[in-house]
Amino acid sequence: MGYNHCRSKLPVNKKVIVVIGGVAGGMSFATRYRRLNIADDIIVFEKGPFVSFANCGLPYFISGEIPSRSRLLVVKEKDLVARFNLDIRSNTEVIAIDPTKRVVTFKKGDLVGHQSYDELVLSPGARPITPTIPGADALPHFELRNIPHLDAIMSFINEKQPQHAIIVGAGYIGLEVAENLHKKGLHVTVVEKTPQVMPVFDQEIAHVAEEVLLKHDIQVFTDNEIIQVSDHKVTLKSGNILHADMLIYAVGVTPESTLAKQAGVQVGFKEGIVVNDRYQTSLDHIYAIGDAILVHHQVSQQAALVPLASPANRQGRQLADILSGLPVTNKGSIGTAIVRLFEQSFASTGLNERQLQGKSYQVIHIHGYDHVSYFPGATTIDLKVIFDPKTEAILGAQAYGEKGIDKRIDVIATAINAKMKISDLQELELTYAPPYGSAKDVVNMAGYVAQNHLHGLTRSFSWQEVDPLNHENALFVDVRTAMERMAYGHIPNDQHHDIDQFYQTFHTLPKEQKIIVYCQTGSKGYNAERILRHHGYNVYQLEGGYQTYMKGKGNKQHV
Ligand code: FAD
Repeated sequence: MGYNHCRSKLPVNKKVIVVIGGVAGGMSFATRYRRLNIADDIIVFEKGPFVSFANCGLPYFISGEIPSRSRLLVVKEKDLVARFNLDIRSNTEVIAIDPTKRVVTFKKGDLVGHQSYDELVLSPGARPITPTIPGADALPHFELRNIPHLDAIMSFINEKQPQHAIIVGAGYIGLEVAENLHKKGLHVTVVEKTPQVMPVFDQEIAHVAEEVLLKHDIQVFTDNEIIQVSDHKVTLKSGNILHADMLIYAVGVTPESTLAKQAGVQVGFKEGIVVNDRYQTSLDHIYAIGDAILVHHQVSQQAALVPLASPANRQGRQLADILSGLPVTNKGSIGTAIVRLFEQSFASTGLNERQLQGKSYQVIHIHGYDHVSYFPGATTIDLKVIFDPKTEAILGAQAYGEKGIDKRIDVIATAINAKMKISDLQELELTYAPPYGSAKDVVNMAGYVAQNHLHGLTRSFSWQEVDPLNHENALFVDVRTAMERMAYGHIPNDQHHDIDQFYQTFHTLPKEQKIIVYCQTGSKGYNAERILRHHGYNVYQLEGGYQTYMKGKGNKQHV
């Protein structure tokens, strides 16, 4: 059985727009296109039961922080039909595209039908990657991409009362699920193949995220993987044997591009759909947006997958503008993301150090506060900014802390978008009153510190260089107070010269040796560096201070 929709029966100037995928990108496209084109037919195919649901909110329903499932249905299907005159076909999968005849074949239950189109918009998203684990099929295992996935997890939890969950993969979705299962009362373990959690962050920041998980009794195994599951016994590569009642797979996503590929649409890096700056695929009248496409990464200048909600929504709107004749182009993405882990937030934009390997870049760490430290309630902000010392281009930033993390990374993301230079961060006039910020915000501080580097006022070594330098006979000089030194520990074989007596004691330091001054966060170290430089010493600073060094080493001190 089947039915057809024939393009030739429509009035000449009325178009049929077919959209595949009715969530972030697809629905953003459909509603914007409708506002700009009242007469056209807009048909949205969605293979799942729900359109326009909140993928990003799914983990928070597990713990009950989002208390009702209906809140996840951001706009109900009937409202989209009534308000936007959309023809929504939920539970209907498009199974083939004929780009020559401009017809899609769809399947709803046993019913197969055909639908012609003038323009076809692909927003099929990405699908979770399923790891192959021997024996794992016998243990209840889940993934989380949509509401049916969530329903399966919740029914299992409510009916079987599992005690132990293992999350496979420590990306942001895996960790959000870990936090929410923990809040639901389960014992949670995270197993991650790479040496750190949250691979989008650099090591010194990922270590802090791991500490947060451990503090909340979530077990973490990095550089590890499940090699065998037998009954409820899970064996890791490291030899550890864990008990599990359920597994959650969160090892990443891959573009849902099979249908497009079968139709002859060109795919590229990691199967992402190739589009131009008008979101056109390689085939006429077929456009693509969202997690399924390759974007131009504005920092690396390379094709990249950026499976995030903000780009998908923007791309949907932009494509609607383009198909409505407005002068809009797809400029690409920079990949700005944030994740909450219990009381801490971790955010990043642009590229990290691993992605910049082989390129010219410089790193600065700023350890400050969300608002002036004298005003009650101040919490720390640790901000890392990476820039190109030759062009001054801002290449990326990462930050964590309890408050104000989104603001700082958003400001830097805006600066990257506006192609501002690192020294321009000094010029930003940001809101300030004691409850909100500082007259020198951490973002401004990043600009000031970078300028010191660019003007040659300071020279530094990174935390990664400390241990090798110690073996090379460089002298580390701790200029913190005795209390700080006692509280936090110190670099082995160093000398201690309290900054408050430094003018009296520095002359005992050897002039012929390379000296690296350090303090906890960098500011006292910089003062000491300036004194020594003035007196002709061969002096450097430990960039980001002892705090960054220790975070980078995962708080394990061995030289
Ligand atoms: P989707 O929103 O996934 O929509 C694609 C739809 O297409 C799906 O519903 C699918 O069923 C349908 N489809 C696919 N193939 C067909 C077909 N052949 N026929 C019919 N229908 C089809 N991003 C953030 O920026 N911040 C977050 O905090 C965040 N949290 C997330 C948490 C979770 C648990 C998940 C799963 C994702 C999260 N994301 C987050 C990512 C964000 O949801 C996606 O980037 C965004 O939804 C992508 O939009 P899209 O339109 O490309 O795909």
